[in-house]
Amino acid sequence: MNVLVINCGSSSLKFQLINSETEDVLAKGLCERIGIGGSRIVYKPTGKEKQVIESPMPNHTNAVSLVLECLTHETYGVIKSLDEIGAVGHRAVHGGEKFSKAVLITKEVRKIMEGTIELAPLHVPANLIGIDVCSQLMPETPMVAVFDTAFHQTMPQKAFLYGVPYKYYTDYQIRRYGFHGTSHSYVSKRTAEILGVPKENLKTIVCHLGNGASVCAVDGGKSVDTSMGFTPITGLVMGTRCGDIDPEIIEYVAAKEGTTAHSVMEVLNKKSGIYGLTDGIVDFRDLRAGCDRGDEACLRAMEIFVYNVATRVGAYAAAMNGVDAIAFTAGIGENAPTVRKAVCEYLGYLGVKIDDAANDAGEDDSIITTPDSKTKVLVVPTNEELMIARETVEVVKSL
Ligand code: ADP
Repeated sequence: MNVLVINCGSSSLKFQLINSETEDVLAKGLCERIGIGGSRIVYKPTGKEKQVIESPMPNHTNAVSLVLECLTHETYGVIKSLDEIGAVGHRAVHGGEKFSKAVLITKEVRKIMEGTIELAPLHVPANLIGIDVCSQLMPETPMVAVFDTAFHQTMPQKAFLYGVPYKYYTDYQIRRYGFHGTSHSYVSKRTAEILGVPKENLKTIVCHLGNGASVCAVDGGKSVDTSMGFTPITGLVMGTRCGDIDPEIIEYVAAKEGTTAHSVMEVLNKKSGIYGLTDGIVDFRDLRAGCDRGDEACLRAMEIFVYNVATRVGAYAAAMNGVDAIAFTAGIGENAPTVRKAVCEYLGYLGVKIDDAANDAGEDDSIITTPDSKTKVLVVPTNEELMIARETVEVVKSL
């Protein structure tokens, strides 16, 4: 079956068409600047020439129509008709406590998803638009929602409850949800496969280090704790997000700057993290270059980031009473050997012995510790789209 995977953001739409039997990507791409002018689609059909098409996309309906036109195009299309799409898998950012696995999108499910808008007001509406537009254009095709939060629904209360009045949880749904669940799930499974150990017997810590970053403790295949919380702002210091801070800071800075808590939150989300600690650097390649030049702010930011990751790993080794494998994934985790090495330098007490040559090579799905290292460290490229396609097929098969 061919599965169209859709990841709909407020002004962008990423897609992949995946053959679920071979797991080959038939085509993938991105629609940018939807609804804000200057929009274009970058479309990459496998084995054919990449197309960049500037085209007005005042709304997501235009974007999805354009994606479907590209996929079925006479020359650069990869399927003859939309009938060749067996199902659509939608990445859904927030499932609240309602969804602990992928589900077929019915009227009732859509309604429940609407109820999660207040938990992620920027993301859920975009996801719903993607779902509505695809349902309109492909009314006979099953639509499945795969939630970023679902994998973490196995966390025990001691990990997901905050030390705030309990009624905040019961009345306002305030708790740790965790994000990047599709990635943590995929990478932890893949880690078990690479090590040749059943996932039920493995304690794994996944470090998803991209622009957004989170660490997850996976015990026996289940998420038992993760660093992001009620929203994705908490946990690690990230590209632009502040990570864990003392909540008093918000009112204090608002008073100092004569502004509102809301505008301080904007800074904490968009102008903090590595960006805030440096002179506006977000990309880790630029941060690395700054460190190589001996730039003090860059060196400081790098040290803080690495310390954040290493201390989380320590916390989760404690949570699971041990750890067998630590997997690095996402843009930084997969591509920055210096970050991996610096994190591992904190982990001697876990019996981590890094193999420098293997770490520098950083091959996909490789073990980067020496054979006698008690805890294995791996580089495992994440593949959220493939995971969404797999989960979509499971749901459709169970119908
Ligand atoms: P997101 O999906 O959260 O936007 P990604 O997983 O794509 O993030 O990761 C983006 C981050 O990965 C950026 O900070 C980027 O600098 C970093 N990155 C990508 N390639 C490299 C590389 N070769 N070396 C170091 N960092 C890299």
